[in-house]
Amino acid sequence: MFGNGLLTNRDRQRLVELRRDFHRHPELAFDEHRTAKRVEQELERIGYSTERIAGTGVVATLKGNLPGATVLLRADMDALPVHEQNTHSYVSTNPGRMHACGHDGHTAILLVTAEFLHRNRMQLPGNIVFLFQPAEEGAGGAVRVIEDGLIERYQPDVCGGLHLWSDVPTGELLVTTGPFMASMDRFDITVHGRGGHGAIPHSARDPIVAAAHLVTSLQTIVSRRVDPIEPAVLTIGSIHGGDAFNVIPDQVALSGTVRTFSRQTQKDIETWIRTQCDAQADAHDVTIDVDYQTAAFPTANAAKPAAWFRELAEHIDGITAVRLDFRTMGSEDMSYLLDRIPGAYVFLGAGNPEVGACYPHHHPKFEIDEASLAIGVELMARYAHDASIRFHELASA
Ligand SMILES: [Zn+2]
Ligand SMILES: [Zn+2]
Repeated sequence: MFGNGLLTNRDRQRLVELRRDFHRHPELAFDEHRTAKRVEQELERIGYSTERIAGTGVVATLKGNLPGATVLLRADMDALPVHEQNTHSYVSTNPGRMHACGHDGHTAILLVTAEFLHRNRMQLPGNIVFLFQPAEEGAGGAVRVIEDGLIERYQPDVCGGLHLWSDVPTGELLVTTGPFMASMDRFDITVHGRGGHGAIPHSARDPIVAAAHLVTSLQTIVSRRVDPIEPAVLTIGSIHGGDAFNVIPDQVALSGTVRTFSRQTQKDIETWIRTQCDAQADAHDVTIDVDYQTAAFPTANAAKPAAWFRELAEHIDGITAVRLDFRTMGSEDMSYLLDRIPGAYVFLGAGNPEVGACYPHHHPKFEIDEASLAIGVELMARYAHDASIRFHELASA
């Protein structure tokens, strides 16, 4: 099934054609209507029937001919509110919208993987579930597909996915065991005081001074409460209060983010933020409200699926190096799928300055090296095959 020359020239052309089509027509979270339609058309052309999930999500299932487990492969489809500054022939036609994270490539890779596996279904073990997920970029798409019954409807045993990554050269594969991307929480804090004259502070309750103490005291959470060996970030990203130099305002609003590598630290930091807010409220005779939301768990790969990726990578010509130590404080909502289904999520190098793929993700000049797309298909197809057999062996052992 996986001899040399896995993909035909037609597959390679289709990969680029699909990726550029998605790139021309970027759509934001839960607004991926055209993208979802194009995904459905492609899947139906190949011979699949499709179902919708979470509105703009699309799922298709392939039944193999041999015994095996059910493997879910996931691609995300959404773009970003970025105005593209590239000048190539397939530049975004939606002003203020851009595929600046490579999700156009992920969608194209999963479609061509679905076509390749469909062609080879007589030699395929188990079942493959293809999930085209909406709204990865902070809008909770993975949570919504789970709420819409992904696991009950398709019963995946094991899952996998990839992210193209312009920060490393094409051909490098990053596979980490355990947690390797951070959780992402967002908090909004409102300090309610009592406004008054700037010259008569004792008759007011100054929310600015309380907020200033709070910002400083929140910094002690990572420096004094979290184990120094445990990665954690707490950033206050905005602070707003007051309109005039001589007026004490009624309130100050702050917002920020917390990133961790463990669910326990994630929970602890929320508790400590609330404790600090209560303490500052007492000290300054103000009230402080905290709205705390989790947008991603730490992304953690199960040991065996990560090892399967590493082993199959040896059989892929385009892969030049496999790195095991990749970690980032960035986050991914694939973490919600990995929390419910054992599996692994890998990063595939797509950087190449010769084709302009040298800008960071989310940059208005972001680009991927399209040579990475075919490697992505081979990775996904081999993982689907191997994980199905390996998981089935484990389950029946
Ligand atoms: Zn992104
Ligand atoms: Zn992304």
